[in-house]
Amino acid sequence: MYTLRKKCGNAKRGQFETVHGTIQTPVFMNVGTVAAIKGGVSTQDLEEIGTQVELSNTYHLHVRPGDEVIYQLGGLHKFMVWDKPILTDSGGFQVFSLAGLRKIREEGVHFHSHIDGRKIFMGPEESMQIQSHLASTIAMAFDECPPHPATREYMQDSVDRTTRWLERCKKEMDRLNSLPETINPKQMLFGINQGGTFADIRIEHAKRISELDLDGYALGGLAVGESHEEMYRIIEETVPYLPEAKPTYLMGVGTPANILEAVDRGVDFFDCVYPSRNGRHGHVYTNQGKRNLLNARYELDERPIEEGCGCPACRRYSRAYIRHLLKAGEILGLRLCVLHNLYFYNKMMEEIREALEADRWPEYKKRKLAGVTGIPDD
Ligand SMILES: [Zn+2]
Repeated sequence: MYTLRKKCGNAKRGQFETVHGTIQTPVFMNVGTVAAIKGGVSTQDLEEIGTQVELSNTYHLHVRPGDEVIYQLGGLHKFMVWDKPILTDSGGFQVFSLAGLRKIREEGVHFHSHIDGRKIFMGPEESMQIQSHLASTIAMAFDECPPHPATREYMQDSVDRTTRWLERCKKEMDRLNSLPETINPKQMLFGINQGGTFADIRIEHAKRISELDLDGYALGGLAVGESHEEMYRIIEETVPYLPEAKPTYLMGVGTPANILEAVDRGVDFFDCVYPSRNGRHGHVYTNQGKRNLLNARYELDERPIEEGCGCPACRRYSRAYIRHLLKAGEILGLRLCVLHNLYFYNKMMEEIREALEADRWPEYKKRKLAGVTGIPDD
């Protein structure tokens, strides 16, 4: 159940109640692909760095260890020891981006596992069954992620099939939630809007899926190669056709600047691998821009990554020490960078919520944007 607490222009400050607790939005979901945040980050760490929602990947968990195994162990929450909300993606994105040799049919997609090459079939029903086994808080609908760029004709056919798949997802989710053996019978379903950069296809699709009265709506198929300006334009044109009284989720986006721009256009939920991926390469976010800790100028720098940062890395360690760990190939070095980056994202979302509540959103956005897109001079 979503409550819109405040609006500033199109920016929304909301609250989303789930069976695993309340999510304050706008929110950044921390990505744990195979039920683990890459970089040696545990669920205990997630609590310490202010994570509200963890995100796991259906396709990866289906391939290994297998959703049946996780079901027998009591579901994802119990398995990874995390009692707050979890969102699982549908597997669609990975099927279309990772898996080899695939055939798209009306019933679903036939493809080969990227791990051992075995044949797998996934359609809307299978995706819902896997996510029901995982027992996540929020399940994502199974959609086709069309290639970018795609012709208008291909895009229209693909979006029409995604709508038919969404109807099947909803029906299957309702059935699964009514079974006595289901771990989370209150599992929620978010639909996904597609249409590439064709605004009219996006809008038509948004109107159609809004009629299904789902728990939330996502914008998929963005940040796949189009320019940032194009992405902002699509968000701006599509969001007004999604229900305002439901959360809006921009999948796989993005940089701090992308998030600020998308919040401004009415987005509530975000996820992205950037903070953990960049952290693993020694690239850390600050309010003076991104630092590369491998840079020689940090060799004798005794300051934390960012002065005043409350993360576990900055509270204790210097740039010089973390740089040394990275150079020496010690896991601790990348772990500290990932913790700092996730904390930075989570903290930014908290600041965004506070700014929206205190009617200081436009000033905050302007100041933060100038900071995060800057170049550190020390
Ligand atoms: Zn820090």
